Amino acid sequence: MPRVLVHICCGPCSITTVKTLQDEGFEVTGLFYNPNIHPLQEYLRRREGVAQAAERLGFSVIFKDDEYNPQKYFREIAWREANRCFHCYSIRLERTLSIAKRGRFDAFTSTLLYSKLQKHDVIRALGGDMAGGGSVAFLYRDFRQGWKEGIETSKAWGMYRQQYCGCLYSECERYAGELEKASQGAGA
Ligand code: SF4
Repeated sequence: MPRVLVHICCGPCSITTVKTLQDEGFEVTGLFYNPNIHPLQEYLRRREGVAQAAERLGFSVIFKDDEYNPQKYFREIAWREANRCFHCYSIRLERTLSIAKRGRFDAFTSTLLYSKLQKHDVIRALGGDMAGGGSVAFLYRDFRQGWKEGIETSKAWGMYRQQYCGCLYSECERYAGELEKASQGAGA
C-alpha cells in the first residue's frame, strides 16, 4: 500500500482530503505543522479538530507542536507581507517534504488543495517544483470537488470551523468590518 504524508491545516479541510486518498488505496499519515496560525488558542482549536478527524477516519497524525513558533514565522515573511501566502505555503510544504523523505513516504500533499479560498495553482506548482522528480512525489489532486461534503460532515461532527485563514493578517482582514463598526459607534 503506498504511503502518503498529508500536510493538514485544520480538521474540516482534512475530511474529504483523507477520505479521497484512503478510497484510492493510500495509507494516510497526517502532519499538523502550521506555525502561521495565530494566536495559540486558535492553533489549539484547529489541532483538536484534526485529532477528531483522525479518530473518526482512522489515520495517524504527527503533531509538530514543538515547532509552533510564531516569532520565527513572522521573521520568515517580514518585508514580504504582500506575497505572504506564497511563503506561508512554502514553509509548510518544505517541512512536509522533509519529513516525508525522512520517513520514506512515497508521496506528500496538502489539505490546502481542498480550500476554494487558497491559491490552488500556486500550491500545485510549488509542490511539483519541490518534489522535482525526487524520491517523494507530490501528489496533486483537486480536493475542492468535495468542498460541500467536507463542510457538511464537519458540521455534523460538531467540529471546530475557523473564521479566518490563519495568520494575524488574515484575522485583521476578516474582522476589519467589526473595527469599522466599533469606530463608528464610538464616534456617534
Ligand atoms: S492568509 Fe493564510 S495562506 Fe496567506 S499567509 Fe495568512 S495564513 Fe498563510
